[in-house]
Amino acid sequence: MARAYNFSAGPAMLPEPVLRQAQEEMLEWRKSGMCVAEMSHRGKEFMSIATQAEADLREILDIPDHYKVLFLQGGASSQFAMVPMNLLRGGERADYINTGSWSKKAIAEAKRYCTVNVAATTEARRFTGVPAPGDIQLSPDAAYVHYTPNETIEGVEFPYVPDVGDKPLVADMSSTLLSRPIDVSRFGLIYAGAQKNIGPAGLTLVIVREDLIGQTLPGTPTMFDYQIHAKEGSMYNTPPTYAWYLAGLVFKWLKDMGGLDTMAVINERKAELLYEAIDTSAFYKNPVDPEARSWMNIPFTLADAALDDTFLADAKAEGLLTLKGHRSVGGMRASIYNAMPETGVLALVDFMREFERKHG
Ligand SMILES: *Cc1c(COP(=O)(O)O)cnc(C)c1O
Repeated sequence: MARAYNFSAGPAMLPEPVLRQAQEEMLEWRKSGMCVAEMSHRGKEFMSIATQAEADLREILDIPDHYKVLFLQGGASSQFAMVPMNLLRGGERADYINTGSWSKKAIAEAKRYCTVNVAATTEARRFTGVPAPGDIQLSPDAAYVHYTPNETIEGVEFPYVPDVGDKPLVADMSSTLLSRPIDVSRFGLIYAGAQKNIGPAGLTLVIVREDLIGQTLPGTPTMFDYQIHAKEGSMYNTPPTYAWYLAGLVFKWLKDMGGLDTMAVINERKAELLYEAIDTSAFYKNPVDPEARSWMNIPFTLADAALDDTFLADAKAEGLLTLKGHRSVGGMRASIYNAMPETGVLALVDFMREFERKHG
């Protein structure tokens, strides 16, 4: 059986060398007599895996020492609540930038804990772009500013980091973290569910500036307190050990690939290939402003939606899987995270041209 090109938005493809190493180590990890999934999280074997993964992530992202890295569970969706619970710090208001479906979910959850000021929204443009920097209206008393650098469903990515002065900037990077270098020091907190570009589902990464934690809202559950997890090295309870290990293998793979500078070059090239195929055809369309187009998630529609099912079936027969767009947007979506090889994008582009020739 051949591995297909899987364009799923998440859980998404993992790098093949990572899966092969996991396979090799499945029955026994380095003379330990057991699989990583069977190890005590407090034993020295797993501790070495955990420590190495964090060190590699810190190296890849160049994370400053005054930031904590947390390996949590609960998905990015839990962060929608954990962020206000921890970062309001006595404040009653937070600024949110609304650029799509995931922003909206973050806003809805934050409203349970504070007054949300929507500092900018592109909803009137049906989320086909990002606000201009000058259109972001911050409130003076906001405890933090939240935004979604890459909207996974709409395929919209900020080409800039908003300037929020000395307010902590919080970013839901679930579908863009590790796709290119970032300056972590611009952010108060970064979070990401792992199943897009980091590893398997079940692990959520949080990178948070030390001075922001430790002032939770009264009644915050222990498991929702960043400071508890920071103090316990993400081992207050049993962490998602196997997902942590696999993410560690992904970090090693990224280092072998040449780090995020190299990934950025590859990712930009992959995205350009696909956008060019869409833009040079009269059959396919992507509605997003060219300067705000995502490198990771590329939605597109066919000239005739009645052909959608045929497109998906024919693509599947060619080993091109999970191209169906999100139910809220329709059409197609190709998610091309780090683990999607360039050959996969080329195969998709070839298939699209051939499909257009037959049906266009
Ligand atoms: C997938 C995704 C989420 C939700 O992640 P879960 O881990 O399923 O909770 C949130 N935000 C963005 C930007 C996403 O892509």
